[in-house]
Amino acid sequence: MRKIIVVGSGIVGLSCALFFALEGERVRVITRNPEEATSWVAGGMLAPFSEGLEGDLFDFSYKSLQEYPSFVELLMDVSKQRVDFWQEGMYRVVLKGEEDLLNKAEKYKSLGYKVNKIEAGDWLSEDVFALVEYKQEAWVDVETLMDALLFAMERLGVEIIVDEVVDIQIQGQEVKALRGLKEEYKGDFYLFALGAWSAELFDIPVYPIKGQGLKLKGVSLPKVHYSSVSYLIPRERYLYVGATSEDVGFLSGNTLEGIKRLSEGAICVVPSLAKAQVVSMLYGYRPATPDEKPIFDVGTNYMVATGHYRNGILHAPITARIALDYLRGLRSPYLDAFSSRRFLGS
Ligand SMILES: Cc1cc2nc3c(=O)[nH]c(=O)nc-3n(C[C@H](O)[C@H](O)[C@H](O)COP(=O)(O)OP(=O)(O)OC[C@H]3O[C@@H](n4cnc5c(N)ncnc54)[C@H](O)[C@@H]3O)c2cc1C
Repeated sequence: MRKIIVVGSGIVGLSCALFFALEGERVRVITRNPEEATSWVAGGMLAPFSEGLEGDLFDFSYKSLQEYPSFVELLMDVSKQRVDFWQEGMYRVVLKGEEDLLNKAEKYKSLGYKVNKIEAGDWLSEDVFALVEYKQEAWVDVETLMDALLFAMERLGVEIIVDEVVDIQIQGQEVKALRGLKEEYKGDFYLFALGAWSAELFDIPVYPIKGQGLKLKGVSLPKVHYSSVSYLIPRERYLYVGATSEDVGFLSGNTLEGIKRLSEGAICVVPSLAKAQVVSMLYGYRPATPDEKPIFDVGTNYMVATGHYRNGILHAPITARIALDYLRGLRSPYLDAFSSRRFLGS
């Protein structure tokens, strides 16, 4: 049994910890603050088509989407908790003037993916031209997912330590120890999943892009409506409205301007939302990179898994599998494709 240290308790850190612990390893998770993880406030859309992804990022994201049902099933089995997960397809809203989105949809369709064009219905505003249904897309209530991950940690005997790692002692390609504010940590393997804060400990171009969102009640929708002005995501007890995209560093809190943008964006798609009641507000920091692709860096006894930007929830299963493979001595091709070496010299 190896001693593994995971730093970060967002979806990436906890999913990797889950896979390591199920492999029979002794896992400890160190986290500065379990509640600050952006993963708790994400929309939970698993949407490589609606996001318009292409190339290796699309392939990576689509593979992770395919792995989601078994990931959720495994998690529910281990945690004995329910995870709210909808595999019902999503609507990409095409506003007037955005008709070129239909060409994109045609392109996905010609590649064999399941795509339907639907006429705009009477619950939508006059600004909506049409809906594209991406039938393979899904969404998950991240609060239930993150809760289940924490329950799974407890059931598998994974210790969660609240501490801030302030220094990493690396010799060549090998991590020797971590210095926390409270104590020093040593393990046989280290997984760093620090989200938007990754550049505090590693020389990599990861920076925060803040997102604000709202929770509403009083209006229900059958499916996610993903538009260029808002995402409307139905959950069991409320409707999630996301999200702003702001390059403001780690500036905290919700702003009136953010709430205005979210409200206008929501009403612009579904006018009846004007009467919906605001339940709460939220914000978090997407871990962005210059090319919007993740970063996987490895040494002999460690991996850095970060930079998942707008799709970290979607990417959790494939990321955890790549990390587990690496621990077992297998090297995914994505470790080369998504190494931070791609930024050298740029
Ligand atoms: C409003 C909003 C909506 C989003 N919607 C979606 C969506 O619909 N679908 C999707 O796929 N993605 C979405 N995302 C993106 C997604 O939330 C992120 O990509 C994902 O949560 C990143 O997960 P992570 O585990 O890498 O980081 P985080 O969840 O941020 O976790 C990082 C962890 O590292 C810890 N940490 C950092 N530094 C240290 C340190 N020095 N020592 C110890 N611990 C440390 C933090 O305390 C935290 O626990 C959204 C993001 C936002 C903000």
